[in-house]
Amino acid sequence: MSMIVPRPIVPKAHPIRDESARRAWAAQHDYCFACGASLDYLQAIGSWLETHHLARGVGRSDEPCNLFRSCMRDHKLCHGEQVVAYGVRLPLLTLGMQLTIKQLATPDEWNPERLAVLYGQCLPSLAPVPEWFQMEFLRNRGNRYCKA
Ligand SMILES: [Zn+2]
Ligand SMILES: [Zn+2]
Repeated sequence: MSMIVPRPIVPKAHPIRDESARRAWAAQHDYCFACGASLDYLQAIGSWLETHHLARGVGRSDEPCNLFRSCMRDHKLCHGEQVVAYGVRLPLLTLGMQLTIKQLATPDEWNPERLAVLYGQCLPSLAPVPEWFQMEFLRNRGNRYCKA
């Protein structure tokens, strides 16, 4: 007798690749979701704002629920690259932290069901954001993480 192992049903992601939609979204979000730095401030110090994808690889979709605005420094942290600032090594921004920040920054775009499909697996649990970013965000925006 042979055992029949059912294959799990994984919905196809059908990611959207649309650079103009991504640019239009980016133009509406003019600060770093993680540290709160504004585009004006970043340009003044020779930096820039970039658009990060929460789900990457095959699920790298240009849908609002998957987009995360980030300064160049924090974008590196989102990708697990080490960054030293003010003499200290900054905490990495794990996907769980990115999800927490995304939900607070753009609650209207929050769609964990769709994100899980793009990610191709269960999303990690929402993780607390390190105090470092909370304090920087407060300094830069004058408020704690909340709806933009
Ligand atoms: Zn930042
Ligand atoms: Zn990225």
